[in-house]
Amino acid sequence: MNLCFHSWDERKEDSVSPQVNTENIKQIVIRRATELVDELIQLRGTDTPPFLAEEFAPLRNISKIERIDLGDLDGVLVRSRDGYVMKINAKHHPLRQNFSCAHEIGHTLLDELLSHIPLEDNEYRGGSAISKRDKERLCDRAAAELLMPGHIFGDYLHKLKLSIESIEVLSNIFKVSMPATAIRVQELSKERCRIITWKRWIRSKSEGFFQYKTKQPACYTYVRDPSALLKAYQSNESVRSYKLLEIDKVSKRYLIESKAFGNSENRYVLSLVFLDR
Ligand SMILES: [Zn+2]
Repeated sequence: MNLCFHSWDERKEDSVSPQVNTENIKQIVIRRATELVDELIQLRGTDTPPFLAEEFAPLRNISKIERIDLGDLDGVLVRSRDGYVMKINAKHHPLRQNFSCAHEIGHTLLDELLSHIPLEDNEYRGGSAISKRDKERLCDRAAAELLMPGHIFGDYLHKLKLSIESIEVLSNIFKVSMPATAIRVQELSKERCRIITWKRWIRSKSEGFFQYKTKQPACYTYVRDPSALLKAYQSNESVRSYKLLEIDKVSKRYLIESKAFGNSENRYVLSLVFLDR
């Protein structure tokens, strides 16, 4: 999840009253993100990716984007009467900076929506009805929509066919990191699939891989060496194998394609699990 910080000195006090609940807020922000993509396509006259986050800035009253060292933070959005100033961590990989920038644009969409919620609806206005965690997730979701617009990304995926190599190609075309691209593939693929990220696990009595930071399946999975994952980890090739996994309460041997990315301590293996093959 994107790590960012926000400050503001002024909030708009105008108000109309949409039906407010967290699911509605999510739907509206995502719809606004898709409208923003349409606006950009109109403006530039082409829907050819990549959609760089900076291209959306002029459409969102962002007066300046500064790239500076922000320590552990991904981005900072400073709100003022004259618009937004966005600060992005220059120390991060360009693809991560692109996503951070899009995430902050997501905050501007959320801001706009919250500013239209009536004053009497204090719970929502103050934002307490949406947890900070939910807000961050929502802005990540909006960022994915901006950088990988559903219908366009879906078309590219369909033409390329579902594979771990296709995810890599899409990551290059849309200028988004492999993990973020993989999540989008999982969401938009016509063929059902699941992405699993594996991290290396080395202890005195055991070496292998553990499943890292996935929402589903929630269970902790450990794969001891030797394995197809190790083979992928030690090469730069994709490796096909069958693996016994429990996914959505279905336990069976799934066909998976695995490939390693990143270097040294940041190296990880991404597996694409074909749920119906
Ligand atoms: Zn944020």
